[in-house]
Amino acid sequence: MAYDTDNVFAKILREEIPCKKIFESEHALAFHDVAPSAPVHILVIPKGPYHSYADFMTNAKSEEILDFFRTVQTVAHGQGVGDAFRLITNNGEQVGQTVHHFHMHILGGKTLDKLVAD
Ligand code: AMP
Repeated sequence: MAYDTDNVFAKILREEIPCKKIFESEHALAFHDVAPSAPVHILVIPKGPYHSYADFMTNAKSEEILDFFRTVQTVAHGQGVGDAFRLITNNGEQVGQTVHHFHMHILGGKTLDKLVAD
């Protein structure tokens, strides 16, 4: 799949539309999800043009990957959910990806349901 430069997160990175920014590193940006599913619901995105987790892990440089995951941890800690949080990335439309710029959801601040029933 080709990267679509008109996706909403690309527009946020170009500052064409606003976001509620929390933290920015050299290679990543963290901001509040516009439709939160939990008291804490943050998105972390790489600044590079990767359409999915698989694309990012296959094609990003090591320093981008390290910076991205360090940003996830920095933000989770900074939002006070450092001991209890859920990371989700939907890789592909079939499993729920709606924005085709790789993003990690950080969810926390309440007891979350199990992802898969017993
Ligand atoms: P996914 O379904 O995994 O692709 O997640 C996309 C997420 O992006 C959803 O949780 C949306 O609420 C969120 N979202 C869409 N547009 C925006 C926006 N302009 N600012 C912040 N979050 C957004």
